[in-house]
Amino acid sequence: MHLEDTRRIPPPDPDREPLKVNVYERMSKAAAQLTPLFPYDSAGAIIPAGAVLVGGPDMEYGHFFHWNTVNEVAVTYGASKAMLAAGQIFVTQQLHGVNSFLRDQKDPDAFAVMVITQHQSASGDQKEALIARCAKCKAELVRTEYDATPHGLPGYDAKRYGADEDPVRQFATLAGSADFITARNSDEGRACAGCGHVNDRFPAERWGWERTVLQTRTVNAAYHSLAQAASPAEAAS
Ligand SMILES: [Zn+2]
Repeated sequence: MHLEDTRRIPPPDPDREPLKVNVYERMSKAAAQLTPLFPYDSAGAIIPAGAVLVGGPDMEYGHFFHWNTVNEVAVTYGASKAMLAAGQIFVTQQLHGVNSFLRDQKDPDAFAVMVITQHQSASGDQKEALIARCAKCKAELVRTEYDATPHGLPGYDAKRYGADEDPVRQFATLAGSADFITARNSDEGRACAGCGHVNDRFPAERWGWERTVLQTRTVNAAYHSLAQAASPAEAAS
């Protein structure tokens, strides 16, 4: 019996060259919560995405719910005075609440560094939603549902958050989350239809999603501008 034959790991997918990232190094400079650590987001990919949450007198993270048709696994790479212990691993429910995960977000000694790994759909469409509830009566305030079907599946829409020829894809979860912020911070999004309470603005800056979407859009525009600048030179040579 040749045990080694049955235990051999298949060679890597040529479209997904193995990469190594240090989560502490990468997340020290990241602009957003849920920043993908690797550039792979197509069908069947796992997307480990980092988050750095820290308390302080002016810190405010708000609260929302995330619904996802695919699985997410959260690993805590370090924490203090948080709801999660350092080294803790858990699988999220399909619908799960999200906040700072700190016991007291105003405590400057409270922090958590996490990696949330989302397993992209390998077949069939992928759907996600962000949901806000009224702080006073808990009625649903805003529900932003978005298609997150990954690249490589028939349901993938390249024009959903960009253009076919963009070299860097928007991460659907962050682009959908940025759309949620727009809806949630509108006058209609803040006023509860149930009880009339005007909810506080969602603290978008703590999450950084709009900035990430804008930066991704900008690097794509930069790529196209360079290609355009190069084309007369290419034609002349
Ligand atoms: Zn209400």
